[in-house]
Amino acid sequence: MYTHIARKRFGQHFLHDKHIIQRLVSVIAPEKDQHIIEIGPGQGALTVPVLELIGEIDAIELDKDLIPALIERCANKGNLRVYQTDALTFDFTCFFDKKSPLRVIGNLPYNISTPLIFHLLTFAPYIYDMHFMLQKEVVDRLAAQPGSKTYGRLSVMVQYHCEVTALFDVPPRAFYPPPQVHSRIVKLVPYHDIPHTARDYSHFATIVKEAFSHRRKTLRNSLKNLVKDSDWEKIAVNPQTRPEDLSVEDYLRISNHFFES
Ligand code: SAM
Repeated sequence: MYTHIARKRFGQHFLHDKHIIQRLVSVIAPEKDQHIIEIGPGQGALTVPVLELIGEIDAIELDKDLIPALIERCANKGNLRVYQTDALTFDFTCFFDKKSPLRVIGNLPYNISTPLIFHLLTFAPYIYDMHFMLQKEVVDRLAAQPGSKTYGRLSVMVQYHCEVTALFDVPPRAFYPPPQVHSRIVKLVPYHDIPHTARDYSHFATIVKEAFSHRRKTLRNSLKNLVKDSDWEKIAVNPQTRPEDLSVEDYLRISNHFFES
């Protein structure tokens, strides 16, 4: 019989606390005919209860050694389709289908959670919601408001696309092997209609990236290659402030200034 030894490089910490699993599945609340995609099903801690409820799931797992046991565990629970690939480069458009918007779930490998969220944001218009287990500090950054120490590029870019709700905490002992960090569940709901839109998304993303790459500088200094003094005079944002003090709308005001019709 194959005994799997958790692989650090794949961020493997398997959830085994039944109470936490139940609580997580109940906040996800999967329903029949919904299209659920799980990232990193591992040994099936979430896959099995979701299959038992709705009979169908797509799962993306990078570690091929986990897949035979996962398929066997799920054999009589429903229709599991496993994609053995890297979720970081996976093209989620293959799941797009107008009648059932995508619901993405996962106890994510912590080492890739930020780039994975950025990757998923590129598919945000097609995603109904996302429920993730993440390192607690990452959830704090996702949900942070301007003025707080944890507010940064990730907060601005995610909040541009999604409503962010931190749900509940999960201690290290809920996993095997236990991680060094505490975890938190977060719900991300992409806006149907983005409240304030970027006229040029990639310019907006560049402004945000550049601003936060010099956190201690004022905006005037950190954005000096992108925004001239003559532009600041026309933008309703104080260039003497620091990047962590600006709201998503402020960043949009800066970027959209360059694309005014
Ligand atoms: N869902 C399982 C659970 O809750 O017990 C496993 C969670 S474990 C924290 C993360 C899972 O993601 C592992 O199964 C790991 O092999 C998988 N994984 C790691 N990197 C991945 C990637 N780039 N793409 C897809 N899966 C990945």
